[in-house]
Amino acid sequence: MVVLIKPSPDIEKVKFDTVRGVVDRSSAPLEINPFDLNALEAAVQIKEKLGGEITAISMAPPMAEPVLKDAIARGADRAILLTDKRFAGADTLATSYTLASAIKKLGKFDLIICGEKTVDGDTAQVGPEVAEHLDIPHVAYVSRIKEISRERLLVVSDMGVPYLMELRLPGLITVTKDVNKPRLPTLRDKLRARKAKIEVWTADDLADVADVNRFGFSGSPTRVVKAFVLTEKKRKGVIFKGEDAVDRLIEVLEREGILR
Ligand code: FAD
Repeated sequence: MVVLIKPSPDIEKVKFDTVRGVVDRSSAPLEINPFDLNALEAAVQIKEKLGGEITAISMAPPMAEPVLKDAIARGADRAILLTDKRFAGADTLATSYTLASAIKKLGKFDLIICGEKTVDGDTAQVGPEVAEHLDIPHVAYVSRIKEISRERLLVVSDMGVPYLMELRLPGLITVTKDVNKPRLPTLRDKLRARKAKIEVWTADDLADVADVNRFGFSGSPTRVVKAFVLTEKKRKGVIFKGEDAVDRLIEVLEREGILR
């Protein structure tokens, strides 16, 4: 199994740089994106039932190494950090392409598990995009894993309305917070993880399975033009009473350009 883990800033502490219009990543320590804790726990529970090996992969700067050590403490057997200046400036397409290339490089796998989304980027695009790059089926927003065998998964996908879905393996799921309750690592787990070696792969390491021009900024068709904090307008709270209430309401809606 492969678990994709995004090192994300602690959302309670991180600050937004309103002048430059970016998240000030130096203002908060990196940690496992909370939804990816559920992804890792799901993999650990499957391993407990069926055996296997869990590889955690992150694409992030070198300072994210402790995040992958934490993943090992929480049950990953192996951890790979994809880090290279050529990965920088990646939008979701280039990010998912890079992650998919690393999985291709790993070789055979049965199941990829992602969080439903991240707390900083919040697009929920990367998981399904990885599945598309690898040409495997996926189910997003998995809130319950009902059955698992070596050939298939039976899961509940919940996007407001729950659906029972069957996923043939190899495949990919993205999981919600409802799928499980991540366990805490023990002191012994933490000490073991401290000694673990995090493998580092660069763009050159992926060159035999990928087109390096599709990494990072050069592989990103979207651009962040401007980011800003929305100032929400207060509701006007006008109440129309009396027999001509509807007429007056329509008049106001026309004046505001809401009704034509
Ligand atoms: P989601 O799609 O919400 O994540 C879903 C799941 O995918 C996660 O739960 C996790 O399992 C997996 N996942 C997502 N990202 C990773 C990852 N990196 N490693 C492992 N698993 C992952 N960000 C930067 O840090 N530096 C930049 O220079 C930069 N430049 C950007 C430029 C553009 C034009 C754009 C649009 C974005 C840029 N970003 C940059 C943001 C970056 O693209 C996103 O952080 C990344 O694609 C993940 O998107 P997301 O957070 O919405 O993940």
